[in-house]
Amino acid sequence: METRTLEPVDERVSDAVRRVWGYDELRPLQAASIAAGVEGRDALTVLPTGGGKSLCYQVPPLVTGKATVVVSPLIALMRDQVRGLELNGYAAAALHSAVDAEEARGIREKLISGEIDLLLAAPERVVTPGFMSLLATLGDNGRLGAIAVDEAHCISQWGHDFRPEYRRLAEVREVVPGVAMQAFTATATPRVREDIALQLGLRDPDVLVGTFDRPNLTYRVRARRGGDGAAEQIAEAVARHERAGEGGGTIVYCLSRKDTEELAAALRGKRLNAEAYHAGLDARKRHDVEERFTNESLDVVVATVAFGMGIDRSNVRLVVHAAMPKSIEAYQQETGRAGRDGLAAECLLLYSPSDGARWERLIRRSGEEYGADDGATQAQLQLVREMRRLVSSMDCRHRQLSEHFGQAYTPPEGRHACGACDVCLGETEAERESKRIAQVILSAVARTDQRFGAAHVADVVRGSDSERIRERGHHELSVHGMLSDRRKMEVMAYIDQLVAAEALERAVDGHFETLRFGPRGVAVMKGEDEITLAKPLGTGTMRSERRKRRASDAELKPLSADERAMFEKLRELRRSIAEENGHPPYLVFTDTTLREMIRIRPATRSEMLHVKGVGQAKLDAFGEQFLEALAQD
Ligand code: ADP
Ligand code: ZN
Repeated sequence: METRTLEPVDERVSDAVRRVWGYDELRPLQAASIAAGVEGRDALTVLPTGGGKSLCYQVPPLVTGKATVVVSPLIALMRDQVRGLELNGYAAAALHSAVDAEEARGIREKLISGEIDLLLAAPERVVTPGFMSLLATLGDNGRLGAIAVDEAHCISQWGHDFRPEYRRLAEVREVVPGVAMQAFTATATPRVREDIALQLGLRDPDVLVGTFDRPNLTYRVRARRGGDGAAEQIAEAVARHERAGEGGGTIVYCLSRKDTEELAAALRGKRLNAEAYHAGLDARKRHDVEERFTNESLDVVVATVAFGMGIDRSNVRLVVHAAMPKSIEAYQQETGRAGRDGLAAECLLLYSPSDGARWERLIRRSGEEYGADDGATQAQLQLVREMRRLVSSMDCRHRQLSEHFGQAYTPPEGRHACGACDVCLGETEAERESKRIAQVILSAVARTDQRFGAAHVADVVRGSDSERIRERGHHELSVHGMLSDRRKMEVMAYIDQLVAAEALERAVDGHFETLRFGPRGVAVMKGEDEITLAKPLGTGTMRSERRKRRASDAELKPLSADERAMFEKLRELRRSIAEENGHPPYLVFTDTTLREMIRIRPATRSEMLHVKGVGQAKLDAFGEQFLEALAQD
């Protein structure tokens, strides 16, 4: 993410950020968000995952001398945040169900006496009478600077994570009417944004919306190979990152619990350190997997989407979707867990045209089972179609994602392509017979009166001799068998691409999905308009995969052998310090900071203080050990 210097920022803010966190720059929007906090205005800050929201509510108390109360939904993350702040010499505490009464009393006293600057609390806790009276006391003493609501989209039914207890947060306002309220979220849709402002009763808030593009992520979509092929594809991707010596984690998302178990076993069979994770495991096992992944003794987690909410490992270098997720929102959320430290990371989606149909079946079935109204079902089907379009289209993935969230996309300075997606990197291969294939498929749709689905159309053009085909006389059509040299999945992928390019549209006839002509259909069929189809990599010849890949701009700058050895050594030191103190390694220093140390090679304490991520407290606590490690070389 682009950064800018601190010049226009309040000097007290820049001093605090440098001293406590060791950062010499704020990111765009952080400055504005912090200013709202310092000046006591309501604000809504929307930044993508990894955008640096926490700093926005952590800094103001250091400048104003008044405490901030942060509403946060996840206990695990609260605990980590408090520990991380303490390591920076920042006084913070958390109140949640795992804190006993006596501890809670101590926290209250310190808050009132001004010994604590930041209090994290769960929403259900905040709305209790006891907590409300604490807020009132703080308010009366002039000790309360702001109420920050983290993950504020939980207040909205349109968000992906509705939590009814968030709805009561507006009551806080009545207790401390003069105190600013600041909402934070990574959810980009305007509808959710408006809902947050409305539900929380924000007063003329500063609305600060960041850029949703994550330039450090490289997006790739590949056709999923059948059978054991998918496990091979994943193992190859993991190996590629391992060879680069990045030392990060991998998350693989699957659609079902069974898939996670099978895939994890297959990956272990390929000698990867992989574990399955899903909501059906007992709590101990789940906790164990989370903990081992966070403390870096586990490299690969193969999970359902249940995994990730409570995980804050910042050096996830690879997120794989073993199947297409159900919406672009879900995809953005899940891929968002990659590269939170700002270093390059990869998002690989393995796609089969059958994924879309699978989601549509699931959505229709659950709509019927739970009696969801038709509008809700249609809305979900629409989300699936948008996701299908994203994977099938041959437009830049960064551009498509930004535009989906209502933002125009501008490539990084000085280039006209993103440099960080399979399309812009030229990894997709054009199908030489695009024109003919498109015409054959469209003719088949026309000849069958636009009444059949993709699978049937594919059977027709491939020359299937099945009963279904014969019954309808489709074996007598001139297009029957014209693409007999192509595999079914390949033809299905081309159909998806024709839908993405608006030559075809999906429609629903009773329970069946059918294909009909889209706005470009007739022109393409007549050869007046042309669509370049991309070969679905992974189904046919894999030549292009073997072809030497052009390194993407966002790829991590590879470390030399010496640097790699040093990186391993620093990681080992970090791990042992973390283990001693019983907290996750990234709280000691992030990978970004370790890499900075390797680049700058500080030899003295004051040089160490110049490394991004080394503030005064961490210098005092760990500086010597890291200086020593860097010196022995
Ligand atoms: P979010 O809550 O928005 O997902 P975080 O607050 O966890 O993001 O920040 C993500 C990462 O960025 C953290 O590792 C954090 O230390 C780092 N970070 C935040 N602000 C800055 C900054 N101004 N300069 C450098 N690193 C920063
Ligand atoms: Zn691109």
